[in-house]
Amino acid sequence: LFISVEGGEGAGKTTVVDKIESTLKERKYTVLRTREPGGVELAEQIRNLLLHTEQIDMDDRTEALLYAAARREHLVKKVLPAMESGAIVLCDRFIDSSLVYQGYARGIGMEEVWKINQFAVEGHLPDLTLYFDVSPEVGLARVKKDQVRDWNRLDQETMNFHKKVEKGYKLLVESEQERIKVIQAERSFEEVYHQALTIIEDFIKG
Ligand code: C5P
Ligand code: MG
Repeated sequence: LFISVEGGEGAGKTTVVDKIESTLKERKYTVLRTREPGGVELAEQIRNLLLHTEQIDMDDRTEALLYAAARREHLVKKVLPAMESGAIVLCDRFIDSSLVYQGYARGIGMEEVWKINQFAVEGHLPDLTLYFDVSPEVGLARVKKDQVRDWNRLDQETMNFHKKVEKGYKLLVESEQERIKVIQAERSFEEVYHQALTIIEDFIKG
């Protein structure tokens, strides 16, 4: 079972998924917790290029290709083997982040970004995706207040960019209602956690 978690800045994905991971483990599920970009050595190195190099000017399509390359390496080396061994894979971001950030917000076009990602993932999409819905205003206020990050690209983006990210996710949610479920992530941690856990457990039980 492959579950991805998506959302804009400060949506609370990481904190909520931390708790879901421990709950599922307490209930004796085998869980692989991972994230994009990264998750395996080569992809972590690509992550460094993408998120820690504000001084290097990068073409938008080059950026999209690097994300897709990191995605493939992580998928093939980590996600697919874990799924084969019966684990529940909980992945912080996957293909939808590229469609939204590179495709919609940077303006390459979702269809164009979809093409290179089809090449990268060869049909392997998440079984379930949770979209953490938070307005950029609330999300950015959270990031300022209390979130610690291992990257610094955020400072370079404008509010307009974050609004495009939100719009891009809304478009995807519309077109992929079967796979993508919306979490009302502006609510309290406990409420968000329970909504997300319920959706996952219902999905596991079928
Ligand atoms: O929120 P998280 O810690 O996953 O942040 C990673 C950051 O990397 C995003 O906020 C975004 O700025 C960037 N990113 C991106 N395109 C992707 C994935 C991540 O621009 N496909
Ligand atoms: Mg996070």
